[in-house]
Amino acid sequence: MEASVTDPLDTERIREDFPILEREINGSQLVYLDNAATSQTPEQVIDTITEYYRTYNSNVERGIHQLSQEASIAYEDAHDRVAEFIGASDGEEIIFTKNTTEAVNLVAYAWGLAELGPGDEIVTTEMEHHASLVTWQQIGKRTGAEVKYIRIDENGYLDMDHARELITDDTKMVSAVHVSNTLGTVTPISELADIAHDHGAYLFVDGAQSAPNRPVDVTEIDADFFAFSGHKMCGPTGVGVLYGKHAILEEMQPYLYGGMMIRKVTYEDSTWEELPLKFEAGTPVISQGIALAAACDYLDEIGMERIQRHEEALAEYAYEELTAADDVTVYGPPGADRSGLVSFNLDSVHAHDLSSILNDYAVAIRAGDHCTQPLHDKLGIAASARASFYLYNTREEIDKLIEGVDAARSIFS
Ligand code: PMP
Repeated sequence: MEASVTDPLDTERIREDFPILEREINGSQLVYLDNAATSQTPEQVIDTITEYYRTYNSNVERGIHQLSQEASIAYEDAHDRVAEFIGASDGEEIIFTKNTTEAVNLVAYAWGLAELGPGDEIVTTEMEHHASLVTWQQIGKRTGAEVKYIRIDENGYLDMDHARELITDDTKMVSAVHVSNTLGTVTPISELADIAHDHGAYLFVDGAQSAPNRPVDVTEIDADFFAFSGHKMCGPTGVGVLYGKHAILEEMQPYLYGGMMIRKVTYEDSTWEELPLKFEAGTPVISQGIALAAACDYLDEIGMERIQRHEEALAEYAYEELTAADDVTVYGPPGADRSGLVSFNLDSVHAHDLSSILNDYAVAIRAGDHCTQPLHDKLGIAASARASFYLYNTREEIDKLIEGVDAARSIFS
């Protein structure tokens, strides 16, 4: 019987799919709470990669032999499967990249360099990951377009009045993170899309922390571009996705030139392949793309809404447990209103020391600026500790995190 969206996840069962969770670190079973950086990979996805290399490894779109045809079909189907996962019309709107970072760069270079100039504005937010912040900043410098940042208020929410002030008819691109990888804030993304479109601007959504963790429908959001990474959603490293509206991608010139993306080449000039190949120059990410489709199958079978509920409940629990102590600061919105991660600091212990002590307890978290240096500057801190949750994490694991935090506190006091 199919699970209803309100059924809790059977984490005990799910954990059996992830062989790495059996690992012991320093004599204790691994507690993996670094999912916002990279998630673990289920047997189903590992098997898909193994099957590819064992049975039909071949280059795509070039051969007429059996293996090449099988690989080509699986690679094309993978685009359709990913399109379905995020509510895109079809696989032509799905470009496989190396990761989210490359997807932002693709749009910034292929669209931004051609379309932006002095007098134009790019509006983004104060909580962007460096992947988009640095990219738009540098494209701004190269084109003369000005980059403006929508404020985050004291509770970690995007200031939508400020957004309405900043986005004007001079704005050509609004680029926003869907879910902040540091604050756990969820951006009111459809509202941003409406404001951007009212002024004739495009909306680029950094979905690196939303696509893995909640149902996403790019058509409903009305995003013009949407980017995410396979390695944060049970897929392999080395594959990311750029979704773009068909009409916009058709208009854009290629980002990388070379084989695969051409139709006709002479010594004088060249013409381009249809979407998505026009943007996938050279031998593409074949096994990774096929495995990403398997990750979509895996997640959809469990149900994205259930995964979201599970993670949010864990984040709320972690928030409550952490803030029960006076010497802990948690950044971002309240526990009940955040996605599945918690960034925090302990008064007396540097985040790196905390992470190192937690490692003694086999608890893997992240410490640092999480590629959001300007946001950390705004918060007045150099670093924070971040615990991020996924479908296989449990409340007991959060108890282990809290035990480790208590131990760090007593060591340093
Ligand atoms: N944006 C956000 C919000 C992220 O969390 C990350 C990964 N930390 C990225 C972009 C970059 O992803 P990747 O390193 O896979 O390109």
